[in-house]
Amino acid sequence: MKALVYHGPGKKAWEEKPKPVIKETTDAVVKILKTTICGTDLHIMKGDLPEVTDGRIIGHEGVGIVEEVGNSVSNFKKGDRVIISCVTSCGKCENCKKGMYSHCMDGGWILGYLIDGCQAEYVRIPHADNSLYPIPAGADEEALVMLSDILPTGFECGVLNGQVKPGDVIAIIGAGPVGMAALLTSQFYTPAEIIAIDTDDNRLAVAKTFGATHTINSSDGKAVEKVMELTNNRGVDVAIEAVGIPVTFEMCEAIISAGGHIANIGVHGKSVTLHLETLWSKKHNHYYPPCGYSFHTYAI
Ligand code: ZN
Ligand code: ZN
Repeated sequence: MKALVYHGPGKKAWEEKPKPVIKETTDAVVKILKTTICGTDLHIMKGDLPEVTDGRIIGHEGVGIVEEVGNSVSNFKKGDRVIISCVTSCGKCENCKKGMYSHCMDGGWILGYLIDGCQAEYVRIPHADNSLYPIPAGADEEALVMLSDILPTGFECGVLNGQVKPGDVIAIIGAGPVGMAALLTSQFYTPAEIIAIDTDDNRLAVAKTFGATHTINSSDGKAVEKVMELTNNRGVDVAIEAVGIPVTFEMCEAIISAGGHIANIGVHGKSVTLHLETLWSKKHNHYYPPCGYSFHTYAI
């Protein structure tokens, strides 16, 4: 089969690889119908995730048709159309029982990272019963690719962890697909204002059509000043980071109001400074790291 294979930072190739086979009785092999590229794949290509080794098929999102299932798989059979969750989960371990599937002790995010992924004609999905979702008949399969990762990540890690509530002023830093998902789903909670920040005017124009009340192009380095101006120097109630680089996380720290929440979605490859020397005076800020953690790393 053909697959997109990682060969070290900056190097990838569309090449021939063996078709995956069932290794465990809980596996399924899925024929990919649609897949997509995630910002995380771009971080992999930059070399930010050194755990990804030479020869790995990348990609962790997609929809497909079940080709084959192991003997213990009971929820799916050959021919079923499925959404592949970016997170593989057994459903049985302590963390799964707590609903923290991204921390499954025999899974989590492994596809296209620690095991071969979805940017290929076929993919092996471990713990298929808990890691695949059936596609209803007649559904728009291309749209459902967004449910593999992008939409739930923007919603759960951004909007829910950020605790967006009615009347809030929120800022979303990064108007890529995940930032757009946070922008769309934040509107379930009727925030008063949504400020979208990005360096790309085209993305910002789309953000406006998706419900952003203000847009700021941060390329001039003045985004923090502009947010403070828009909020009468108060800052925002929720800052959602959807990029994964130090400058955008530090932007969140600079614009968060007293008692505000910072929700981090971006996958960081470099350490970021938590400016407690300035944040302490804002009191009761909460910081949520990505993907399913829901504790406060500090609450001062
Ligand atoms: Zn992804
Ligand atoms: Zn588990």
